[in-house]
Amino acid sequence: MAVGEYPLPEMRKRVWQPRTLAEAWQLKRTLGEQTVIVSGGTLLRTQWEAGTAIMPGHLISLESVPEVQVCEAGGAAIRIGAGVTLAACQRWGDAPSLLKEACRRIAAPSIRRLGTIGGNVMSASGDSLPALAVTDAELVWYDGSGSVAEPVGAWLEQRRAVGGSAKETRLLKEVRWSRKADDQEACGYYEKVGRREGFCPSVVTVAGQFRLDAAGRLRGVRLAAGSAAAVACRLAEAEALLEGSVWSADLRRSVHQAVMEGFDGGADAFATAAYRKRAAAHLLTAFLEERAGCRGD
Ligand SMILES: Cc1cc2nc3c(=O)[nH]c(=O)nc-3n(C[C@H](O)[C@H](O)[C@H](O)COP(=O)(O)OP(=O)(O)OC[C@H]3O[C@@H](n4cnc5c(N)ncnc54)[C@H](O)[C@@H]3O)c2cc1C
Repeated sequence: MAVGEYPLPEMRKRVWQPRTLAEAWQLKRTLGEQTVIVSGGTLLRTQWEAGTAIMPGHLISLESVPEVQVCEAGGAAIRIGAGVTLAACQRWGDAPSLLKEACRRIAAPSIRRLGTIGGNVMSASGDSLPALAVTDAELVWYDGSGSVAEPVGAWLEQRRAVGGSAKETRLLKEVRWSRKADDQEACGYYEKVGRREGFCPSVVTVAGQFRLDAAGRLRGVRLAAGSAAAVACRLAEAEALLEGSVWSADLRRSVHQAVMEGFDGGADAFATAAYRKRAAAHLLTAFLEERAGCRGD
């Protein structure tokens, strides 16, 4: 299972290549704190180089685990394995279009060829997350005894609640959508704002999805926002205001306010939390204004 060992004593790291998730889980249990799961390694490498994480003695690569490499659109579900690269997600015809757009906006082609959807999700601030949240994606986990599915929105909520204090201990097997959730008639939106057009961390990333019924009422409304400085989230209060309503100037003001109150995008050297709130509220209300119209004015 192990391949190679670094020759110098100070670099003595061991790379394990399990063939199944069960084997990876067992290795993780046996080797304890001295391990890390590696998919594409693009985020981990950055953390190790920046000194924000220490490279442990044992790296468990999921590269040889077929279970996490699948892309399937048969039956009632669409499934993308956690080990599928961002470039492959972007290319795959059956991937939800908002996810494809999100992948297109992440990093640069060289990173997207290595970086995976699983690693992006596990970062909790990856740019794919708002797109996954508004398309009702589910995360399928391996927890040592079997597979457990959990809505992305619920997992993000739990991640926000624990903050940086508790690491996710389960292995991500795949991202899954029910065919019903992949609503071809829905109006979708994805936007990432950075400090330049491309190849930069997100100042704010937003996504939205809704349908208009025959009476012009908004249905199936989903809104989400994230940033490189915070865990992404669904914007439940803004969604509740919109659901079943006709778009209007009053609603625009209320939704803008609800996004400002509901989104905490964090602060870093590039942007304040207040700036991120305002940017997310502007982007999402502009999307709704354009696509839901102003019939109620
Ligand atoms: C130059 C550069 C630019 C970048 N730009 C962006 C950007 O614009 N937007 C963005 O979102 N990200 C960006 N990233 C971050 C990163 O490339 C992506 O988030 C990528 O998707 C991470 O995937 P990975 O497979 O490389 O993850 P890895 O580095 O392998 O792992 C990341 C984390 O996830 C865990 N993990 C991985 N797979 C699993 C699994 N199956 N189960 C459990 N845990 C797992 C690892 O233990 C680790 O903690 C950038 C990185 C670089 C180096």
